[in-house]
Parts: sequence; C-alpha cells; structure tokens
Amino acid sequence: MKEILKTYYGIEATEIKKLDGYDNVNYLVKSDDSKYIFKTYAYNTEICDLVVAESEILTSLGNGRFPIPIKSTKGNAVQIIDYNGKKRIIRLLTFLEGIFLAEVSHTSELFESFGYFLAEMDQQLLNLKNYVIKSRKFEWDLQHLYLIEPFIQDIPNPNHRKLVAYFVQQYRELIVPAIPLLRKSLIHNDANDRNVLVTDGKVTGIIDFGDIAYAPLINELAVAITYAIMGKNDPLNWAGYVLKGFHKTIPLTPEETDLLYYLIAGRLCLSVCNAAHSKKLDPGNSYISVSEQSAWALLHQWMEINPIHSSKVFRESIGLQVQNSEPVEQKIALRHRFISPVVSVSYSKPIYMERAAFQYMYDGYGHTFLDAYNNIPHVGHMHPRVVEAGQKQMAKLNTNTRYVYDLLQMYSEKLLSKFPSKLNKVFFVNSGSAASDLAIRLARHHTKCDNIMVMEHGYHGHTMTGIEISDYKFSNKKGPGQKPWILKTPIPDTYWGKYQNDGAGMEYARDAAGLLGHFGEKVAAFIAEPIVGCGGQVALAPGYLKNLYPVIRAQGGVCISDEVQTGFGRLGSHFWGFEMHDVVSDIVVLGKPMGNGHPLGAVVTTEEIAGSFEKGVEFFSSFGGNPVSCAIGLAVLEVLEEEQLQQHAMEVGQYFMSLMYALQKDFTCIGDVRGSGLFLGFEIVDEAGKQNTALAAHIKNELRHRHILISTDGPYDNVLKSKPPLCFDKPNAERVVENIFDILRDRVGK
Ligand code: PMP
Repeated sequence: MKEILKTYYGIEATEIKKLDGYDNVNYLVKSDDSKYIFKTYAYNTEICDLVVAESEILTSLGNGRFPIPIKSTKGNAVQIIDYNGKKRIIRLLTFLEGIFLAEVSHTSELFESFGYFLAEMDQQLLNLKNYVIKSRKFEWDLQHLYLIEPFIQDIPNPNHRKLVAYFVQQYRELIVPAIPLLRKSLIHNDANDRNVLVTDGKVTGIIDFGDIAYAPLINELAVAITYAIMGKNDPLNWAGYVLKGFHKTIPLTPEETDLLYYLIAGRLCLSVCNAAHSKKLDPGNSYISVSEQSAWALLHQWMEINPIHSSKVFRESIGLQVQNSEPVEQKIALRHRFISPVVSVSYSKPIYMERAAFQYMYDGYGHTFLDAYNNIPHVGHMHPRVVEAGQKQMAKLNTNTRYVYDLLQMYSEKLLSKFPSKLNKVFFVNSGSAASDLAIRLARHHTKCDNIMVMEHGYHGHTMTGIEISDYKFSNKKGPGQKPWILKTPIPDTYWGKYQNDGAGMEYARDAAGLLGHFGEKVAAFIAEPIVGCGGQVALAPGYLKNLYPVIRAQGGVCISDEVQTGFGRLGSHFWGFEMHDVVSDIVVLGKPMGNGHPLGAVVTTEEIAGSFEKGVEFFSSFGGNPVSCAIGLAVLEVLEEEQLQQHAMEVGQYFMSLMYALQKDFTCIGDVRGSGLFLGFEIVDEAGKQNTALAAHIKNELRHRHILISTDGPYDNVLKSKPPLCFDKPNAERVVENIFDILRDRVGK
C-alpha cells in the first residue's frame, strides 16, 4: 500500500488505517504534513465509469466543503493499477476535517445549518451535467424503490416485513405517479449522519459521493432527514429545522413538501431492505446494519404519524400555507343530504377518517387514532398482502360466480382446512347478514320446520330474517317485536345471571331445554354466538352448548354458531368460538374479518345439510365467492398464519386483561373483566354494583378525545368493548389502560 501511494501519488505514508465501508475498501492515509482518503475498488468497467463521473463532479465542486480528487503521477484522478495480477481502481481524495453529525449533540441551529448546507451544495450541482450518472439506475436511488421490492422477503421478522410492504405499497400509490412531475438534478443522495461533517455547531462538509444520482431534488432532503431524525422523540419538528434551512436558499414547492412523509418512509424501507439483502449475502459485515435498529424504530414511529399532520408541520416550518379539511359538521351536513340519519355513526361529534394503517387510523385533521375497536380489519387496516391480493386479482379477472376459476376451490380448501372434518361444504355470500339469512334457509330446508330458537341479546344481521332472529333488534323499543316462530332463551351469563356457579352452563342448558318443551313445537335450529357481542361480550357459560346441542339435535333441529365476530383466531385459544365450548356446530356463519373489510361472508356446513339444500332451487350469489373475494380471503388466512396472529391475540389479550384486573383493584367501577384473546369486555358499574351507563359513555368519549377508539355495548350499554385488529400489541394495550386509569382518576378519584 505504502509503495502504491509513493509510486502513484508521491506520498510518504506514515500511517494507513482501514475504514468501514459498505461495499468498497477505504483507508485513511497520513503523511508528515497531510491526511488523505485512499479508495480502492475491484475493477469493472461500470464502476470505473461511475468513479470517473464522481471524480469529475467533485473536481467541479472543488472547494473545502467536499473532498477534492488528487491526480496520480500519471495525471489521472482515477487510476487503474495492476495489483497482484488483478486490475484495481484507486483514487486519492483530500481529507475533510470535522465531526460526524451522528457524533455531535443536536440543536435546531445545527439542523438548520444542515439544510442550508445541502441547498448550497444542490445549487452547485444544479448547474452540472453528467450523462453516466443520469443513466444510472441502482438500488440506493429512492425514485427506483421498486428495485428493492424483491428484498422484502429477505427481512426475517414478519412484523417488520409487513411494515415495509405497506410503505412500499403506499409509495407506489402516492409517490410513483408524482415523480415525473418533480424537478430533477444531480443530488448527493446519501447525506446520512455518518457522511455529514460538523465544525463549531454547523454543518461544514460532506463526504462519500458514491451514491450520487440524477433524481428528484426533494429526495436529497428525504435522505438527509431520514437519518437526522432517527432516535428523536419529535422527529417532525427536527425535520422542520432542516427544511427551514434548505428553503432559505432553494424554495420548496407545496407538492414537494407534501411528498416528504412517504419519501422518508421509502428511504427507511430502502435502507432496511438493502441491509436485509446484504446481510443474507454477507452475514459478517457489521457496517451494513449500522443504522438498522434506528431505522426500524423510526418506521414504527412513522406509522403512528398521520401523514396529514406531517404535511402540516413541514409546511409550517417553511411558511407555506397549510391546507385544512372543512369541519366535520360541514361533512355531516353534506352526508345528510344523501344519507338518512338512521344510518348511524359513532360519537356525538363523529370522526372524519381519511386513511388507516394496521392498528392506527388517521383522521382528516392530522390526528392518529389507536384502533382498539374495529374487528373487521382483522389482520390490520390496509394490510399490504390483502391490498395487493385484491389489486392484482381485480386487474385480472372478476366475474360473476357462474364460471369455473381456480381461486374458488383454492380458497374453499384452505378455509375448510380450518374446520373439523365434518364441516366440509361452504357457500359464499357478501356479508354476515346474508350468511345468517342463508344459514336459517339451510336449517329450514334440512329440517322442514320454520321455528328458530335464539339467544337473548343476540344479533345476526340486518335482513328481514336477520332482524327476526336478533333479540337485540326485535326487542328494541323501536323494534318490530318477537315473531311467533321464535323461541328466545336467556343468556347464560355467569356475572349478572341466575346461575353463577361452576355448573351454571348445565343449569342454563336445562332451563333452555325446559323452554323448548313448553314451546310445544320442534325448532329447526338454535343460533347463538359463542361470546354474545351485543349482549356485552358475554361468553356462554362453560358447558352450556355441550348440554344444549344434544337436546336441539334430539328433537330434529340443527345447531348454528354465529362466528361473524368470534371467528378467525380472534379468541386466541381457538380458531372458532364453538371449539372453545368443546362442540362442533352443524352450520357456521362467517363474515366481518373474513375479507379484512372486503365484503365477504360464508356459511360452512355438513355434507348432509348441504345435500338437503341441493334438492331445492339453485343457489346463486352474484358476488359471493367471486375471484377477487377469494383472492382476498385467501390472503387473510395466509397472513393469519404467517404472522401467527391467533397466538398473538392470545398473548396480547391475556396481557390486556391482566392490566385491567390490576386496574380493577384501584377502581371498583370496573365490575367485570371478561372475554378471550382480543375480544374483550369490561363491565362498568356504580357504587351499588349496578350497570353504570353514564360512566361507560364517559370513558368511551374521553378515550376518543385521547385518540383511542373503543365502544360500549350490552343491554345497558355499560360494557366497554375492545376487539381491535389482531396486530394490536402490548404497548397499545398499555396505552388504553393507562388512559382509562387517568380518566377514572379524574372522574371518580383514586
Ligand atoms: N352476526 C353478528 C354476530 C354480527 O356481529 C354481525 C354484524 N355486527 C352480523 C351477523 C351481520 O353482519 P353484516 O353487518 O356483515 O351483515
């Protein structure tokens, strides 16, 4: 090495130190009177062209803020040498003094100077042309984010993987179409905090032009900000300082500013994907993962930021006008011009929602809500696998269901594999209501009887039959009342109910059998949810179904389990609620979570019951089980498995309950904590131990003001209900419980 330096640069090196590098080998070289950076590369023509281009640009920039190429004794800024019989590229650069941005304490002035420095550099770069760089396409250039998509699968942790897939998908939707409209120029493209040098509290230099690109100018800032804000509690304001400094020299447009949220996310994805891929190829290189932990932390932090809020902060930081959505009252007035108020919305001041991601929802005013309520986005709002499955299939084939297509049997096979073998036939529809309606039709066909036995407080859907079998609706003050062919059985509730002992289930079942005897006629079916949601998350007493099912069957009826809310692993311990009760139902009703928000429902039954139905008129549902629905349903099942969400629901649910039990010790108003997995209910009571509707409403509304979504239900509307997307995690549970604690402390005192 010494010899090479002497021969090619006439330098007497007194010290040579190897430096960390991503994919080339660099050295710090000291001589008696100076310091240099010596870079070496294995030869190939592409690298050679790039290094020549980089050297030309650095020579043009040529001042003390950037490294300056030193010509070899042969007169070349990029020298090719023969080294042990192999060609190598070498080059020597001046050494820049300063401390890396990563190693100094940060101030708003420093960050502003960073933005200012970048803008000054970019103004110089704006005037340069380089066709090698212009034609370059590589995986560290944010505008070509699609190049790293194949590396997503190299990320080992599925929870990390889904986050990257989500942001890459959003990038495709929101950034890719905007790229052609952006101003482009040469940019440094890697102003990370280990390339940026600081002297006396100001940014004074930048090194490593190896990623230089011809790209949207705004990407310069996206890259710089990404690294600068890692580890910050308040990343948006820190980003704002950099923007402010930049904007003074090169004014940013509102369009550029608004793209930054997804560009920063994109750069984080690019960084973690490249790291995961390189780690797979070269597990020993620790420099690869130098910022990986911080990048993951920031990606998670980013997901909790409403993109509208980010735009607001960024625009405000540079004095651009902030665009505000019209007030929700105006939105509601418009809604009511077309939509009847009987179609209800949550909260007295409803929430105007704009977007969502996993367990977070973003309103139109910049707030992020933690979703502790919605069970329809089962595997998470906008889960990228589910979105992609729908997008792809929608672009390929979506027909009515009268043709043969592979997805139908693929999905049916996968879905039925989740059931006991006796449940081996499926009918697809478009909602839980359509499914329970069809379930009743199947039961009536099979048994040639119309009477139905239903559960007190049960809800099964909004169709005519749905209302007629739902006590929650027909017994409502404004409801149509109970039909003569309905037999209603009391809810086997061990908290409020008549029997509360260990054998309660058996006693309730005996009472139900007694009612059936009194009814005097046979019933075609008994329908119930394993945990009665509208009843206030009341789990049927253990042993109830096991004792009642044989009675129903003995008199010629079938047993229907409505798993619209409880199915698909939500209960943690079991995939289906009937399994929790150690029975196998004859007909199972599915809906809500099945399509993660895409309208998809189904009825699963036995060969025998399906056989009876086959004797009637044909069954046709235009949409039920169409190719897009099947693709989406299949993706939901795959995600459930890949992310082990049933197990996750069990662990997080148990933890959530344990926190609530602890809270119960402090506050007697928490009367009961119950449920299973992530299907939970917290009974709110008054001092006399009676249902406290007002306090439950207060907690729900206060949580909403603290940006947490939860609901109330039950006959007295006093049960707080939580049934979040299954990706809801332990810190989320802590946040809900801490907030309930604060609300109760303020309201009732501790
Ligand atoms: N059954 C149960 C248990 C439900 O909770 C619901 C919806 N809340 C339905 C059926 C009806 O489903 P959908 O709203 O999809 O028609």
